[in-house]
Amino acid sequence: MKFSTYQFIAKVTPCCFLFFSFVFTTNAQEPKKRLPIIDVHVHAMGGNPNASPLCPWFLKDMPGSGPNQEPPSFINNDCISPLQPARSDAEMDAAILRANKELNVTMVVSGDAKVIHRWHKAAPDHIIPSLGISNANEMTVEAFRDSLSTGFYKVMGEVAPQYQGMSPSDMSLDEYFGVAEELGIPVGIHMGTGGNGMANITRPKYRASLGQPFLLEDMLARHPKLKIWVMHAGYPMADQMIALMGANAYVYVDLAGFIWSYPLEEIHAYLKRLVQAGFAKRIMYGTDLMMWPELLETSIEVIESANYLSEEQKRDIFFNNAVRFFNLDASKFE
Ligand SMILES: [Zn+2]
Repeated sequence: MKFSTYQFIAKVTPCCFLFFSFVFTTNAQEPKKRLPIIDVHVHAMGGNPNASPLCPWFLKDMPGSGPNQEPPSFINNDCISPLQPARSDAEMDAAILRANKELNVTMVVSGDAKVIHRWHKAAPDHIIPSLGISNANEMTVEAFRDSLSTGFYKVMGEVAPQYQGMSPSDMSLDEYFGVAEELGIPVGIHMGTGGNGMANITRPKYRASLGQPFLLEDMLARHPKLKIWVMHAGYPMADQMIALMGANAYVYVDLAGFIWSYPLEEIHAYLKRLVQAGFAKRIMYGTDLMMWPELLETSIEVIESANYLSEEQKRDIFFNNAVRFFNLDASKFE
């Protein structure tokens, strides 16, 4: 709730708030710097005055519906304290900057290019720009190569052919993966769930079966030097995910999206399964942060509170695994 209070005070009494901050920072003891976190899955977007609040873990209840009935609502705000959306671009930008500086979170960010540039300008050391493409109609291979060659984008993602009814091994995307392989750019690919009723409500081309981690195998075989991570950890297909990671040593996963939407017990069971299968060094923290800034702290707390993880495993998930995967310099985070 800290963020909502901040928003409220900043909006209602900006000058008093600034004064208060000044007094607070000069009198208080220097707060201990938080250990760094790398969030590998953030969507660049502005705020929205009409967005609905959101209850974390809302998919604990997925009622059925019928073709002639109202579709079930995609999100749910029927809980005691739903997370509030950022109501404007300025609110969203401020929340991201606060996460970068106060929570010491570095983010791999894809989405709205203007927003990525704005966030990167505000905190260049904490924003890692990522260029997503899910369909060859979005950009030619040449344009894609040119964009990556400028050096601004360090990552390719979120690649989400599943929403287009396509396998990640579809040949129409192959040349793009070839460019990423050639330039040594790591790639994040959406595999897995899309929420309750995705195929009926918003994305008629969406196919659950196209989220099977095994569908990556042909593409990986064609690009042996490509480094990919499976976004959403291929939830709920743990068996395939484990087999794929076993066969492909460069494949990592992130925990984004399902970490704040599915029932907590289910999230922990899935994460625990991947860890007990031996992959704690290949799991990266990701939020799937969208316009509800508190999703970040809500999701971080899921890992913090996982009593089956050692402190070392938590640090691996929050930081060390991403440093290794993205070839980052850990000393720059000190
Ligand atoms: Zn996704």
